[in-house]
Amino acid sequence: MPEGDTVWHTAATLGRHLVGRTLTRCDVRVPRFATVDLSGQVVDEALSRGKHLFIRVGRASIHSHMKMDGSWRVGEHRLRVDHRTRIILEAGAVRAAGVDLPVLEILDRDRDEDVVAHLGPDLLGRDWDPQRAAANLMARPDRPIAEALLDQRVLAGVGNVYCNELCFVSGRLPTAPVGAVGDPLRLVARARDMLWANRSRWDRCTTGDTRAGRRLWVYGRAGQGCRRCGAAINYDGSGERVAYWCPVCQR
Ligand SMILES: [Zn+2]
Repeated sequence: MPEGDTVWHTAATLGRHLVGRTLTRCDVRVPRFATVDLSGQVVDEALSRGKHLFIRVGRASIHSHMKMDGSWRVGEHRLRVDHRTRIILEAGAVRAAGVDLPVLEILDRDRDEDVVAHLGPDLLGRDWDPQRAAANLMARPDRPIAEALLDQRVLAGVGNVYCNELCFVSGRLPTAPVGAVGDPLRLVARARDMLWANRSRWDRCTTGDTRAGRRLWVYGRAGQGCRRCGAAINYDGSGERVAYWCPVCQR
C-alpha cells in the first residue's frame, strides 16, 4: 500500500532513471490530457509531497497520486504496458509507466504545489516541521488518534500501515482520543523516524528486525501473538479503515 515512504522511493527511482534526460515518448492515456505531448523536453525533477508525486518536465508537471492500488514502474523498453497503464514516458532506452493511477493530471509547473497546499508538514520533506505537526495533531484533542494521523492536513505521509504501527508504539488504541497522547512531539518524531528508515526500501519495517515475517508490530497480524506480550492481535475491518492492535499493550 503506497504511503509516504513508497511515494518518496518511487520519486527517487523515477528521478534516477529520468532526470536530465530528454523524453522521446509521452503517451498520456487520460482523456483530458491525451493531447499533451512532452516529448523533446528534459525531465528536471521527480519529487514527493506527502503521498503526491510530481515529475517536472519543462514548463509542465505531471502530478499523480497512487491511492490504494496505483504504481509507477520503470525499466527497459520491454516493460509491459496494458489497459491499466495511464501514462508512458520514454527517454531513449528507459521506459516509465504509471499504472492504475486514480489521479493523473498535467499541471503548470509554476503552480503545481497548489494541489498540495492543504497538506500538513511533509514527514519526508526538506521542510519537515515537527512543532507544527504536533500542534496540528492536538488541535482537536477529542479526535481518535488513528483519524488524526491519517488526516493529511495534520501531517502528510501516514497511511494505514504506519497509523496502526504508531498507535502500537505509543501504547494507545487507535480509537483513543489524540488528546490522551502524553507527548505529541515524540509521536510525530516516531512517525518521521519510521518513514525515514523505510524511504529507500520497498519492504517496510517498523520493528527494526528486517527478517521476513518480523518487520511489523501489529499491521496484518490479526490473531498472531503480540511481539511484546504474546496476546493475540485484534483486528477490526468494519469501519472506514482497518485497525490492528494489541489488547494488552494498548490502552
Ligand atoms: Zn502486547
